[in-house]
Amino acid sequence: MTRSFIALGSNLDDPLQQVIRAVESIRQLPKTTVTTVSRWYRSKAIGPGKQPDYINGVIEISTELNSSRLLITLQAIETAHKRVRAVRWGPRTLDLDILLYGDATVEKPELTIPHPRMLDRNFVLYPLFDVAPALILPTGKSLKSFIDNSAMDNLHLVDYP
Ligand code: AMP
Repeated sequence: MTRSFIALGSNLDDPLQQVIRAVESIRQLPKTTVTTVSRWYRSKAIGPGKQPDYINGVIEISTELNSSRLLITLQAIETAHKRVRAVRWGPRTLDLDILLYGDATVEKPELTIPHPRMLDRNFVLYPLFDVAPALILPTGKSLKSFIDNSAMDNLHLVDYP
């Protein structure tokens, strides 16, 4: 079993319901247990034009799927949520990113782990901190050290449930 963290994001078609349904879909995956779910956050969209706000969160899973199989499986869930991939960084009904997969470093054309932009994004760092406050990153640095340097700008807790 490998401990992995998945970031969830949505800014279309009732985003809070999208991410909640995605967690339910991930709970149904074979050889995989969802061990912790973060609080949900509302964040301002980055990317072109005016877009609706995002809902973001992170889950911790324990899985026997290897990282490539996990990516394929998560992409199937994105597709099932009818994600529109027309515009890079454009609005999407569901975005699932593998943040970490154990201590693994993966550099394949289709998969980079740790996720290259995770440490720059407060909407990833804060929910990750919810689920794993004592996390040490594969580099040996603590997640807490990044949280301490990351403001909660444009990030708001969602009142749920
Ligand atoms: P995006 O549109 O930003 O969600 O990027 C999707 C693409 O990122 C997919 O084609 C994946 O193959 C690729 N990708 C690379 N690393 C990761 C990762 N750690 N988690 C999810 N997708 C990834």
